[in-house]
Amino acid sequence: MPDKSNPMDKKLKQAIEQRIVIESARKTQVDTLSNFAAKLSLSCKGLDIELDNRLAKFRSALNKGVSFEHLSPLINDILVLLKNQEAIQLAHQRDLRTSVKNAGKQLQKTNGLPDNTRRTLRNLLDNELDAVQSTHGFIPLLNQLITIYNQALHTKFNALPAEQHTDTPAIAKKLLELAHQLVLEDEAAEQIQSIRTTILQSNTVDDLLAAAIEIISIIVKNINNERQSAQSFLVSLNKTLEELHHSIFSTSKHSESMGIEFDVLNKRIKTKINNLNEQTKSTTSISSLRKLVDHELKSLGEDFIAKEELERKDRKVLITSFDKINNRIGSLENKLTKYKKRLNDQRFKSLLDSLTKLPNRAAFDERYNHEMHLFNVQASDVTLVVIDVDYFKSINDRFGHTAGDITLQVIAKALQKSIEKTDFIARYGGEEFVLLMPGTSLEHAIPQLEKLKKNIKKIPFKFKDKQIEITVSLGATQFKQGDTLLKAFDRADDALYEAKNAGRDRLCIRK
Ligand code: GH3
Ligand code: MG
Ligand code: MG
Repeated sequence: MPDKSNPMDKKLKQAIEQRIVIESARKTQVDTLSNFAAKLSLSCKGLDIELDNRLAKFRSALNKGVSFEHLSPLINDILVLLKNQEAIQLAHQRDLRTSVKNAGKQLQKTNGLPDNTRRTLRNLLDNELDAVQSTHGFIPLLNQLITIYNQALHTKFNALPAEQHTDTPAIAKKLLELAHQLVLEDEAAEQIQSIRTTILQSNTVDDLLAAAIEIISIIVKNINNERQSAQSFLVSLNKTLEELHHSIFSTSKHSESMGIEFDVLNKRIKTKINNLNEQTKSTTSISSLRKLVDHELKSLGEDFIAKEELERKDRKVLITSFDKINNRIGSLENKLTKYKKRLNDQRFKSLLDSLTKLPNRAAFDERYNHEMHLFNVQASDVTLVVIDVDYFKSINDRFGHTAGDITLQVIAKALQKSIEKTDFIARYGGEEFVLLMPGTSLEHAIPQLEKLKKNIKKIPFKFKDKQIEITVSLGATQFKQGDTLLKAFDRADDALYEAKNAGRDRLCIRK
């Protein structure tokens, strides 16, 4: 059937249909644009407040169906702001690259990084970092860097679990040395010993920190005790002096009053004698003279007895007073002697190594100085020997530090027994000893040292049911003209190195 409808109607209908299509296309475009704007605002959010505002305005304009002509200035503004952002981002990127590079270089200076980690780090800094073009590219590199940092921290502080622990970390070693140097008595000495054990068993920096704090508090307590004891000594010294002063003062006061009494008595005696003289002259008969003399003599006798009594009293008071002073001085002397002895003991103790009870390095330095001085004034033979236990670290590693400590004590005793009375041996540090042989030439020292070496080797050490032989290496030299402390010691040390390099368990000499 032919279409009877009006051609105008048809056109209108077509136009309406086309418009619907156009409108729906525009709606899709606006939705896409609005979506894009929403995404853009989300990813730019927080970069710049101005940009945030413009993007929000742009989205609301889109939703309101504002014409594209009106949107254009808004888009321009946003473009300018985005351009600024680009410059800012580039600057950030540059800063980030510099920071990452600096952090990496710092890390390269750290000791104890495993070799392959060090290689990765070098590659990262020399090549990979420069190849990065965007901020995002840094993230994997930063990740790598952080991993290396972790490794570095791990190797530095608690590298290995306890059973694999091969050496005490540097902090623990320092702390042990410090604890070693403390010269304390009784309870404090025991506390320090127990802290030493804790340090040897500790694996974390926290443990070491706790130990350090404990050591400090013991030192503080000890200083306080020392101060108190010095104070109490001063107080008692002061008291004694006060009493002495008082005693002397009262004695002199007493003597003064006695002096007055003596004067009175003396005067009285003198007057009586004068009287007697006068009366004798005027007496006419012998019998009256006798009577007179009798009477006066009696009275004089009483005066003399009084005088004697007075003198006796005076002497007694003086003696008591002197006795008191004497006792006081005696007790003060006693205290002084005790105090001096304590100071001396402490000095002596501070020159002794607490583990082996041998003289320590400070004592050696003092003696070494003295011997070198003597040698320079009246050249005589002096041999200097440095002795080092071989592979001692492996004793600690295999049987523990306590076994190591006992070993050192036994070796020290054997060394002491193997030397002459005039020789001087000290623990120089760790498992190293030094021997001074005044009056012995190097030539004469050699057989003695060979014997000493054998004596150590003969000690039947037994750990965990295992028979262990421990040996020492020795480096010896003799003082010579123009020597300094350093020169002579270096020669002995060089000789020791030679002995170590030549296979240990031997004596090498340097002339
Ligand atoms: P070398 O033959 O080359 O001398 O080998 P070594 O293992 O004896 O020498 P190294 O210097 O490598 O190690 C010395 C060890 O001595 C390391 C340290 O743990 C240990 N040591 C030092 N002082 C003491 C201490 O007071 N007690 C214990 N148990 N060990 C100590
Ligand atoms: Mg050694
Ligand atoms: Mg050594």
